[in-house]
Amino acid sequence: MASKRDYYEILGVSRSAGDDELKRAYRSMAKKYHPDANPGNKTAEEKFKEVNEAYEVLKDGKKRSAYDQFGHAGVKAGSAGGPGGGGFSDFGDMGDMFSEIFEGFFGGTSGRSRGGTQSRARRGSDLRYDLTINFIDSAHGTEVNLEVPRMETCDSCQGTGAKAGTRKKACSACQGTGQVRMTQGFFSVMRTCPTCQGEGYVIEQPCMVCRGEGRKRVIRKITVKIPAGVDTGSRLKISGEGEAGINGGPRGDLHIVIQVEPHLIFSRDEEDVLCEVPVPLTTAVLGGEIEVPTLNGRVTMKIPAGTQTGKTFRMRGKGFPNLRGLGTGDHLVTAKVETPTKLNSKQASLLKEFEKLTGNDAYPVVRQFLDAIKRL
Ligand SMILES: [Zn+2]
Ligand SMILES: [Zn+2]
Repeated sequence: MASKRDYYEILGVSRSAGDDELKRAYRSMAKKYHPDANPGNKTAEEKFKEVNEAYEVLKDGKKRSAYDQFGHAGVKAGSAGGPGGGGFSDFGDMGDMFSEIFEGFFGGTSGRSRGGTQSRARRGSDLRYDLTINFIDSAHGTEVNLEVPRMETCDSCQGTGAKAGTRKKACSACQGTGQVRMTQGFFSVMRTCPTCQGEGYVIEQPCMVCRGEGRKRVIRKITVKIPAGVDTGSRLKISGEGEAGINGGPRGDLHIVIQVEPHLIFSRDEEDVLCEVPVPLTTAVLGGEIEVPTLNGRVTMKIPAGTQTGKTFRMRGKGFPNLRGLGTGDHLVTAKVETPTKLNSKQASLLKEFEKLTGNDAYPVVRQFLDAIKRL
């Protein structure tokens, strides 16, 4: 179970493959490994099973998106290998980031308790929490207090579902196995016990607090550290903070999906921060210093004489930290030269004098342009 192969890989298609492409790939693979074409070949038989399992999931839009998001854990296609036996090598696109931030997540998707009772232990559901944070917090990381509504084991009955002081009883219809034998002619098949719905026990006096469910809804307060560098769409997985399991099954996980609010001045491109800074005409012409906001406060930046609108300056290492620890982005400042307006007569006459002195000599682009249109 430890090395369950990627379904797309099994069918030899890309993750963006459409339905037709999937179908074609499936048909040709199924033909190739079909037992009729490979009598007695164990490897082919395994492959045939694998191909069928992969197609079963990917042809179904719902299962496919669950698989894309959570890998094999999302579709529970594998047989339960007991608690902790899942072996989920793949966690979709978010895998890399998660494994960096949180390690050792995911137990099995389900498992059976091995003890005297045959009650089925089931893993609690995963929960999703959409969290909006501001731009600066996404750059520096932050700590947030969340209130997560979720199912908790009922403490009044310790999760048994039976009223305090009473016990659940093994189901007499199936002797607690959860399954009954049905005989039809020559055939005898095992069916889920209809009396206990396969649970193996019945509750005669349900717990009043949880109405026999063994779990109850509560608001759980948790504090979560958001790492520096998260972006809209980043997902954090908090193991074991999902819903309580059933019959002693493991807890589900909590998935936090980040949304970053837009910033008035900054925007983001991968790990780089971008901003546009207005520059007075004279500073742009003569060169000088401008004030630039960064993620870590204001800094003074020198710009050279002759700076044009649209010119971008790069400040190395002043961007977002990479979530996988691969360095830090840059801060890119784009100059936007501001033309002065509302000049008084003295100011205007100085500029007129300047114009007389320079003509088009100071404007090579203008000169080129004029030459070009003359030639048209
Ligand atoms: Zn209870
Ligand atoms: Zn039963």
